[in-house]
Amino acid sequence: MRPGGYPKGVQARAWVEVDLAALWANYRLLAGRAGGEVIPVLKADAYGHGALPLARFLEGKGVGRFAVATLEEGRRLREGGIKGEVLLLGSLHPLEAEEALRLGLVPTLSNLEAAEALSQRARALGLVPRAHLKVDTGMNRVGFPSEEAVSALRAVEALGVRVEGVYTHLATAGEDAAFVETQRRRFQEVRRALGEGYFYHLENSLGLLRHGATAGVRVGLALYGLVPGFGLRPILRILARPTLVKRLKAGDRVGYGGVYVARGGEWLATLPVGYADGLPWGAVRFVKGPDGRLLEVAGRISMDQTTVLLPGPVGLEAVFEVLSADFGPTGLLAWAEARGTLPYEVAVHLSRRLPRRYLE
Ligand SMILES: *Cc1c(COP(=O)(O)O)cnc(C)c1O
Repeated sequence: MRPGGYPKGVQARAWVEVDLAALWANYRLLAGRAGGEVIPVLKADAYGHGALPLARFLEGKGVGRFAVATLEEGRRLREGGIKGEVLLLGSLHPLEAEEALRLGLVPTLSNLEAAEALSQRARALGLVPRAHLKVDTGMNRVGFPSEEAVSALRAVEALGVRVEGVYTHLATAGEDAAFVETQRRRFQEVRRALGEGYFYHLENSLGLLRHGATAGVRVGLALYGLVPGFGLRPILRILARPTLVKRLKAGDRVGYGGVYVARGGEWLATLPVGYADGLPWGAVRFVKGPDGRLLEVAGRISMDQTTVLLPGPVGLEAVFEVLSADFGPTGLLAWAEARGTLPYEVAVHLSRRLPRRYLE
């Protein structure tokens, strides 16, 4: 390709590609398993995938309710034109009540202070205070204790707050089935005591996939296809074109620490992505070459660059798959495992620096 013929912008040097058709396939698969409502969890910028483009796409498909963690995340969805219900999963702080009301976001209540603030601010603004009630069935993080759910609901409703949903969160999905059952039993007791007329939701990704749904579900990880073995697939790739391709001489040392020492004659490509783009340091061992072959990373990755060994020379227009949308050695789960962390942590650290391209 001649220099004037290179693509511009997002496809020029390194970018993130998100496959919305794959997102929809994951959503459909989860909805089939769930039976009831599936709430897409779009917190932390949809685990690095981009909350607003995903919300717009899903809203276009008829999804009417989303969940985020913070007021700020909710604000960005509203300012981006999302009309559906936006549930704030983090327990509402009393100081956030007014803003949540003005933006038409549905907060989670875990204590009466927040309920009182919501009620007061709503009265002052002439708005209807709506909320979901969080019940603690064993995680001891947020939520009204499940034994006090009835009195909590009565107290919140007495303040004029319209409680539309009631939910709890699993502490040990995929890890301790017996405790999952304990939490479900407690939630079932709450449900019996409060009666129907509320939207009850419970399972997260691993709760749904490993234990099945008993109420509505809130899913993040599985929606992004980051759980192997259920027919889901990852929806995000990181692609890059090399900025330099060269041949090494025997004894040449590559990158920081000079830890890769050339035998001589091997080809090397420098890709313009590094740990500032979300590649976990010390955990990226391979990249896929333009022909799909696995290429070994040579030496340490830098903040902005990664060097890989090639079987032979390639042009600068060649596209390398740095992070692939699968469960192999160049996938996000392999990175997380090599780094000794959770796929969640790797996903949320995918950098906003790389331009994004959304494929429908
Ligand atoms: C993040 C979160 C979820 C989604 O969890 P996944 O494991 O990603 O499916 C569900 N519910 C609550 C309360 C959360 O904070």
